[in-house]
Amino acid sequence: MTATASAAEALWSRCGGCATLLYRKRLRRNLDVCPECGRHTRLAAPERVRQLVDPSSFQPLPDRAVEVDPIGFVDVLPYPHRLTAARADTGLAEAVLCGTATIGRFRCALAVMDFRFLGGSLGCAVGELITRTAEQALDAGVPLILVTASGGARMQEGALSLMQMATVSQAIAALREAGLLTVSVLTDPTYGGVAASFATCTDLVLAESGARMGFAGPRVIRQVTGRSLPDGFQTAEFLLRHGQVDMVVPRHALRARLVAVLAAAGGARRPRSGAPVHPPARPVARPPDPRPDPPPAEVAARDAWETVRLARHPRRPTTLDYLETAFDGFTELHGDRLGGDCPAIVGGLARLDGRHLMVIGHQKGHTSAELVTRNFGMATPAGHRKALRLMRLAARLGLPVVTLVDTPGADPGIDAEEHGQAAAIAENILALSMLPTPVVAVVTGEGGSGGALALAVADRVLMLQHAVYSVISPEGCAAILWPGRTAAPQAARALRLTAPDLCRLGIVDEVVPEPTGSAADDPEATARAVREAVLANLLPLLDVPIGALVQHRRRRFRRFGAARAGARAGAR
Ligand SMILES: [Zn+2]
Repeated sequence: MTATASAAEALWSRCGGCATLLYRKRLRRNLDVCPECGRHTRLAAPERVRQLVDPSSFQPLPDRAVEVDPIGFVDVLPYPHRLTAARADTGLAEAVLCGTATIGRFRCALAVMDFRFLGGSLGCAVGELITRTAEQALDAGVPLILVTASGGARMQEGALSLMQMATVSQAIAALREAGLLTVSVLTDPTYGGVAASFATCTDLVLAESGARMGFAGPRVIRQVTGRSLPDGFQTAEFLLRHGQVDMVVPRHALRARLVAVLAAAGGARRPRSGAPVHPPARPVARPPDPRPDPPPAEVAARDAWETVRLARHPRRPTTLDYLETAFDGFTELHGDRLGGDCPAIVGGLARLDGRHLMVIGHQKGHTSAELVTRNFGMATPAGHRKALRLMRLAARLGLPVVTLVDTPGADPGIDAEEHGQAAAIAENILALSMLPTPVVAVVTGEGGSGGALALAVADRVLMLQHAVYSVISPEGCAAILWPGRTAAPQAARALRLTAPDLCRLGIVDEVVPEPTGSAADDPEATARAVREAVLANLLPLLDVPIGALVQHRRRRFRRFGAARAGARAGAR
């Protein structure tokens, strides 16, 4: 809390739960939990750190956030103005506070998010700082603790913010490989891209009393399903009942519970075991520079909103169409082995130029009936777990994986939340960052946020000329940042979601040209182009030793961060 904010604090405050007027010092002594009704007030990151760590043990990460505006985003306000205001309001440089500390004398690295800073949103700087905290944990051989509070990915940084889900996940993968404990503490609220990555792919997930966590927010779920939500939906108790968290912990017990967990894990000074994949050297990461050679003129984008409409065209080829036309001998495999078979994801064995591989993709449809049957290509947790099963099977059989991405997003339904949508996506992202076999992803239509990324952490990411790939739908972005949904075309342009834009940002490696008109006008020519592009990108990967391949994949997703190395880190 800054001096000005403290000075402005009134002596009394009214509880948001029971409306009791409380003496502020008494509230603070009670860890900002209402002594009358038990309501847990949201904490600023510095106060959270103070409550959790041993006194004077917190050493902030030397690395500093860099202010970035990688896509020049403007809604009703330019993004840099919003950043400046958030910094002034919170006294923080970014939406996370990172460092090392001891908790009950056990050393750990910890990153604590702050919801006051642009809704705790995950951007390039936040992702980079949490990644560096995880790397500190790896270097020191200590556990990593993440305290989450976030509305999701930061849409003002476009698909680059989506990439941060992969960046942090792969840092957690490195800790898994090294046998180091990772713990996340969910606090209220934890949603979207943060929920669907590092908040739920840790070894242990604790939920603070009063926390709500989910992939989709309640407003979106109500809007999409038209259903009212069950009582207590997405609350800590709901998450516990549905097997998604290890425990629900009231704030006053949180520190003791962390001490117990750290003690059981052997705490500090655990020798670092030989990680099969060494983390990449710590670069001074910057937002990617524009590529020296822009995509050739023939794949220049149309207007972004027109491209969105082409990407969603009902006659556009689907994954099953490509399996018929671009691949040979498709044998479909079904089921997640946990009780479901999601029709929005199809996958199985196929051949390409005589080579065996595993193909996994989202499946939409051409008619309304097909679309309904396939849930519009929106995968449920069962779909993500089926994909995960097939990816791992491929790795075990030594088969490369090709994914075809075409989804408006992961299923935002009530059942999906009950079955752990966020964790299912998070596990796929993490698994792909470790998968010991070549992976080529092709965004063929709509690459919708976390649901798309769950199939798109790959060695090579290709994108059809009139496909789109985005952190949020233009309609969703417009609804949040503009006065109305009619601003979707403006939002589409601001989000930089077209293939040439994403190629320039380094998120996509190659744009696959579409026939005159678009893929919908000549599916066979499109299939030939996809086949050639996949082959050309896959063949060189087959010669790369697996260790180097995975290391290179991680470097690929490490280059989107934004932070400046501090004195200590810089000297490394
Ligand atoms: Zn109260």
